[in-house]
Amino acid sequence: MPNAFTPQAAGDLNYLKSLNRSTILATVRRHPGLSRADIATHTGLTKATVGGVVQVLLARGWLREGELHARGGGRPGRALYLDGSRHFMLGTEVGVKGLRLVACNLQGDVLAQQQSEQAPTSPEATAARLAGMLTDLCRSPDLQSRTCLGLGVALPGPVKPDAPVLRLAPNLGWVDVEFLDLLRQQSLEIAGSWLLDNEANAAAFGEFYFFDGTPPESIAYLCASSGIGCGVVSGDNFPFISRGAQGLFGEIGHTVLQPGGAPCHCGNRGCAETLVSGWKLREQLDVAADASLSEALARRGDEPRVKASLAQAGEALGWLLLNLHHTLNPAMLILGGSLTRLGEPLIAPALAYFEAHQNGLLRQPLSIPVKVIGDSTFTAARGAAAEVMARAAVEL
Ligand SMILES: [Zn+2]
Repeated sequence: MPNAFTPQAAGDLNYLKSLNRSTILATVRRHPGLSRADIATHTGLTKATVGGVVQVLLARGWLREGELHARGGGRPGRALYLDGSRHFMLGTEVGVKGLRLVACNLQGDVLAQQQSEQAPTSPEATAARLAGMLTDLCRSPDLQSRTCLGLGVALPGPVKPDAPVLRLAPNLGWVDVEFLDLLRQQSLEIAGSWLLDNEANAAAFGEFYFFDGTPPESIAYLCASSGIGCGVVSGDNFPFISRGAQGLFGEIGHTVLQPGGAPCHCGNRGCAETLVSGWKLREQLDVAADASLSEALARRGDEPRVKASLAQAGEALGWLLLNLHHTLNPAMLILGGSLTRLGEPLIAPALAYFEAHQNGLLRQPLSIPVKVIGDSTFTAARGAAAEVMARAAVEL
């Protein structure tokens, strides 16, 4: 499926340049302080190619030079670093329960953030509210001397793979929403590329793109919130989000685990979300839609009904981890989303199930790591900002 990172034609020179640029940026991000010669050694690119790309990146303020490398012989090289002081990317998440916004620098550091726990209503009203919050965020003192590279918006549902259109957000009741157009009608003064993606895709992308060190071969980010979604990213220096023909890749919350089971918000029965999701737990345990699920259940942690529901939901989450492992086999699984705030009563049975079953097929004691993000409030928004940076690097 073509996207911003797909070559236009075989041998496309711009594609080759953007590939080299992304490779060099990824190398400097993972190994800060390398010289041009070190980068050439690391990447296999010629010194001339590295020199040319680095010159452009320095001129545009994406890289900065640091100390001189001490060397035994020959000309010493300057250390190179990502320049975190000149640009920022905006990332936002429209979640089922609220809005989150961040501004990040090229190193993925959050410079400013904002959130609102007021649930979205209509797409139009939400776009107006988000625009107001973006305007506020852009007034942050730390952003005033920087250039904006663009805006990424993450939404809780599948997005068309070839156009910025949200197909469906079952837990918001939104269908075929061109959300960026609604935002443009708000006369926002935000420069650069604007893009739209599914929130789990955005989160997965951010965790891969801003990975501390060399990222694994692939990452699957399982987002357990009001709904359940998953994003998968692979591709080393040129990270790629798997999307599927209709943008449904990773919609694991609507895989059927119990044929003929309870009705789901999508219209089918027995989906994973009917066994583990924020909305199902609220329904089962009588938690009001506007109350915090984690706070409500923390107060009721000793109730046998709460314990049993969380244990059952946790095991279902473990089934999903195992199904992801066997269908996509990512090198790392990341579990995020607001349900991780429910802590051990939900997470322990999920991890225990996965741990007990993940080696069944190959019968080898090799483990795929599962990283649990305890607070993923801004993970998808930061990921949307990462997508903006990756696109800006291509378009530079
Ligand atoms: Zn469903």
